[in-house]
Amino acid sequence: MKVAAGTSILKGIAIGTIRVYHKEETRTSRLSHLTPEQELSRFQAAQRAAQKQLEELYTRALETVGERDAAIFEIHQMMLEDEDYVGAVREALSTQGVTAEYAVQAAGERFSAAFSALEDPYLQVRAADVRDVSRRVVDLLTGAAPGGPEGEEPFILAADDLTPSETVQLDRSRLLGFLTRHGSPTSHTAILARTMGIPALVGVDFDDSWDGHTAILDGYHSCVYVDPGEELLSAMEARRRAHVQRAALLQGLRGQPSVTLDGTRTAVCANIGGEEDLEAALQNDAEGVGLFRSEFLYLNRKDFPSEEDQFQVYRRTAAAMDGKRVVIRTLDIGSDKRADYFGLEPEENPALGYRAIRICLTRPEIFRQQLRAILRASAYGNAAVMFPMITALREVQEAKALLNACREELKREGVPAGPLEVGVMIETPAAVMIADELAREVDFFSLGTNDLTQYTLAVDRRNPKLGRFFDPYHPAVLRMLKMAVEAAHRHGCWVGLCGELGADPSLTETFLRMGVDELSVSPTAILPLRKRIRGLDLSRREGP
Ligand code: PEP
Ligand code: MG
Repeated sequence: MKVAAGTSILKGIAIGTIRVYHKEETRTSRLSHLTPEQELSRFQAAQRAAQKQLEELYTRALETVGERDAAIFEIHQMMLEDEDYVGAVREALSTQGVTAEYAVQAAGERFSAAFSALEDPYLQVRAADVRDVSRRVVDLLTGAAPGGPEGEEPFILAADDLTPSETVQLDRSRLLGFLTRHGSPTSHTAILARTMGIPALVGVDFDDSWDGHTAILDGYHSCVYVDPGEELLSAMEARRRAHVQRAALLQGLRGQPSVTLDGTRTAVCANIGGEEDLEAALQNDAEGVGLFRSEFLYLNRKDFPSEEDQFQVYRRTAAAMDGKRVVIRTLDIGSDKRADYFGLEPEENPALGYRAIRICLTRPEIFRQQLRAILRASAYGNAAVMFPMITALREVQEAKALLNACREELKREGVPAGPLEVGVMIETPAAVMIADELAREVDFFSLGTNDLTQYTLAVDRRNPKLGRFFDPYHPAVLRMLKMAVEAAHRHGCWVGLCGELGADPSLTETFLRMGVDELSVSPTAILPLRKRIRGLDLSRREGP
């Protein structure tokens, strides 16, 4: 048996025969014996035919992967009409006497190199898209047929790379999974594979001699086993079956409301740490983002992210959630989340130290940049802002005053900002005790059970020795949550819960009975939680 590692795109298992597939290199001749005008009309005809193919692919992708992911083929259509791209082709045709296929290939390479050189990873992946579009046109011009393994048998595809359009065109009835030598987990091919639920690995150094051999593609452990023994085969087959059954059951809940048998409706939202989690949130049918931990934008970098950098991330997030609410929590740095450039001094008690809103209110130059970025993003979707680690009413009033000042500033500058709900994290006992006052100041609360447990029980949440004392089921914690929910509702605020406890199925009924309006959990916990909610009946008396 041989084992090779890669990067997993989707947690899943595929078992079957490997088919190694190499795309035929299209040979394009450089110099043309036609006139530039004739080459131009060849190009225009291929361009029209490519547009038609892309329209068909879009329709096909709409059915298989949905609107969001199908949009990639609309982007391809736009690229094909892009003035600079088409201009480069035309110029080569009129000045160099080259064939249309040569001009398209050269323009594709030039634009894809330019995208690869950009810093923004979202623009970098466009490099593959330009190559994909160009290849489509070149194939049409040279009459090359799009390939793929032939035959009737199901297979695990091994290829050097796959373009998004090749991925959508693959015969789903036979494709068990794929592995590619190149490609990144954030590419559109990877996104499509995930949406289509195809187990896949990228970055696998496969060998052509594997063609025709039995393999297990293990997306959980990011590896592929070639010629596995009987024992491993049957154990993995059992895991594969269990995975498929569970996934199908849960996927059936996409689009379904998170409602109990007696009709109590709750929103199940996603906690995200950045844009890279968005896809998982959408894939698992999040009803919004209940917590965007914005501090991750500040970590692992040398200097503060600019207002513009932040704005772009928040804007894309709000736009991607398409009208569903995105709660952006302002910077919760300090304690265990540190970045050198903040110049934070070491502290005796970091969890009780200079962190979160305390940093923001004492260093308003940092805070203002973030507030302006959030306000600007609110013009592009349904954004909300939330302040962490609140212990006093004054803190919320000061933060709101800064927010208003930033709104005025933007207005003077003529920069648009949309409506923005304002909320606070309830994660300190002090916040619970003044919940009535806080609720008069804000639109919503979000219950942070991680810190609330830490501060209520005086147990450091990061100290592994204290594991058995960190008891989020402690009646003190649960009573605090209930008090906060009641205070919020008394003043017309809605309440979310975004701590880890939200995904604990043994407490779902308790939280719903308390009246929690939204549970926000990690994306993969969304559908299991919805399943739990849909099985509850709150009209029945509480358990014994
Ligand atoms: C919490 O404290 O429960 C919370 C959600 O915030 P974090 O875990 O980021 O501190
Ligand atoms: Mg917290």
